[in-house]
Amino acid sequence: MNHYRSNVDDIAFNLFEVLGIDRAQQQDGPLDRSTVVAMLRELDRLAAGPIAASYTSSDRRPPAFDANTHTVSLPEDLKASVRTYLEAGWAHVGADSQVGGTEVPQVLRWALAELVLAANPAVYMYATAPTSASIFLRQATAEQQGWARVIGTSNWGSTMVLTEADAGSDVGAARTKAIPQLDGTWHIEGVKRFITSADSGDLFDNIVHFVLARPQGARAGTKGLSLFLVPKFHVDFTTGALGERNGVFVTNLESKMGLKASATCELAFGQHGIPAVGWLVGETHDGVAQIFDVIEDARMFVGTKAVATLSAGYLNALSYAKTRIQGGDLAHGGATAPRVAILRHPDVRRSLLTQKAYVEGLRALYLFAAAHQDAPVAAVVTGADPSMAAAISDMLLPIVKGFGAETAIAMLNEALQVFGGSGYLQDYPLEQYIRDARIDALYEGTTAIQAQDLLFRKIVRNRGAALGFLSAFMKAELDQVNDPPLKPTADRIAHALREIDVMNNLLLRRLTEALEQPEQIYLVGLDATGYLYAMGDLLVGWMLLRHAVVSSRALVDPDVDSNERAFFEGKIAAAAFFADRVLPRLSATRKTFEATTLGIMHLPDEAF
Ligand SMILES: Cc1cc2nc3c(=O)[nH]c(=O)nc-3n(C[C@H](O)[C@H](O)[C@H](O)COP(=O)(O)OP(=O)(O)OC[C@H]3O[C@@H](n4cnc5c(N)ncnc54)[C@H](O)[C@@H]3O)c2cc1C
Repeated sequence: MNHYRSNVDDIAFNLFEVLGIDRAQQQDGPLDRSTVVAMLRELDRLAAGPIAASYTSSDRRPPAFDANTHTVSLPEDLKASVRTYLEAGWAHVGADSQVGGTEVPQVLRWALAELVLAANPAVYMYATAPTSASIFLRQATAEQQGWARVIGTSNWGSTMVLTEADAGSDVGAARTKAIPQLDGTWHIEGVKRFITSADSGDLFDNIVHFVLARPQGARAGTKGLSLFLVPKFHVDFTTGALGERNGVFVTNLESKMGLKASATCELAFGQHGIPAVGWLVGETHDGVAQIFDVIEDARMFVGTKAVATLSAGYLNALSYAKTRIQGGDLAHGGATAPRVAILRHPDVRRSLLTQKAYVEGLRALYLFAAAHQDAPVAAVVTGADPSMAAAISDMLLPIVKGFGAETAIAMLNEALQVFGGSGYLQDYPLEQYIRDARIDALYEGTTAIQAQDLLFRKIVRNRGAALGFLSAFMKAELDQVNDPPLKPTADRIAHALREIDVMNNLLLRRLTEALEQPEQIYLVGLDATGYLYAMGDLLVGWMLLRHAVVSSRALVDPDVDSNERAFFEGKIAAAAFFADRVLPRLSATRKTFEATTLGIMHLPDEAF
């Protein structure tokens, strides 16, 4: 059975009816709706066919490692899926034209990514070289600009290489060294772990690793790290011709819970008698800032992947609920009543509507965030100027990634529950979805790290500017909702926004107190993840209301057909349901913040 399910109509609704991206002034003229929809439909077709084809099989027969040759070999059908995606040019959509890409607004790039990520996330993960090349291009020296083109236009793979055994969340603890050479190159020495796609056998002609390492004599911590480009095979960057093997070798392939098709490798530099030659990226030793461009892109990928899998999980559960006959209707005698499809049971409906609300709210959120990654699109969506647009995108990123991942994991559990015992079997995709989605809350910064990023970097360091802009924009929109069916929903969201304001003030007060009494910062640390969740729920509620407002207007049109009517009614119902049944918990969260004390920090370790 093909596991793939998608909702292209909802993606198009977001892009055009809600965000209005066709009104954005692009360099090459406005985005034509029919072209965009044709792109979505074409990738959807490919995703449903050859891309999804290896999803299940490569979980059951995952990549294998040969320690003698330091090679990871991928299953043939997985390679076929990746090649189909690459050969059709999709990996280049959104990449810089100077590296062979087709430039489109980021919001469209991520909308397209959702489809391949729902079908087979590992395919997307092997095909990242055009994106890496685009990022490298922005950081490269004049000479390296040509290298970026070679990376983007050749049949290469790429990786980002930060993590070590003793340097996970604490990136600055990395020990991998970089030793300068007389010819301007560097020799990299050390062992990295958990590196995605570090080898893929004969899938690619070469792999370029972007590696964080510490130049000899550089200071400790993140500030002493630099970014190096280390190819698997040496290369003549003027012609693209490949040379000798470089001294970077995979020394282990992790055996893991899910996402098995994506190879997670230990990678050794300069440990096998051949130097691992690297080149400093750009002209400055500013490694963490440089790799952050890659990390931010990867965090957006994770948030989009989480929504993609959740959407497929929900749609699978919905189909099952319509066909599985079990039990009688509660209102017609229950046990003695005629059997009904489980979709008729209140608890199943509650679960499905909660899933729908989160799927569609989170999809709207990642697209809203992506819309702020291009100034012309942001100008249409919120009127933010370019620097505010960038600040909004920055602020939303940890929510898209951290809250998106955690929510998808929780909601996929709900989707599995709809299948009853069958959900636990490999006959249906839910058990694999749950295993494959679990990683989203871990890599590219765990949820705790996302929560701290949101509070300390994106709100406090930004002096609340992006938060203030977005809150004022939200409030102005809520004030305009006066139609009787939607007004109570808007009022509940306005109440949730006030609860967030109280939390903001409380956290800010504690941060200020921490200047005098350092322990007060623990109170903020204790509530950071709760704050991330509260912000996520508020934003999902608001996104759903925006959809409901557009839907309510659309329903007035007498030409709306029955499918469209159902679509719009579903939007309005999801917004009301979420505001009534989920958002009230923000008041409970606010109360828990008020009750936070240092007791937990003073509890002796032995008492845990
Ligand atoms: C499948 C997979 C693929 C990966 N791909 C890559 C890759 O391609 N490249 C790469 O460089 N890395 C990669 N990683 C590494 C990944 O980014 C790290 O695993 C992740 O950042 C967490 O680091 P850690 O595993 O060392 O956990 P730790 O840092 O040891 O964290 C353990 C726990 O402590 C918490 N914690 C740690 N520090 C803090 C803190 N300061 N405040 C609050 N809580 C904290 C964490 O939230 C977590 O719950 C991958 C990992 C996996 C599993």
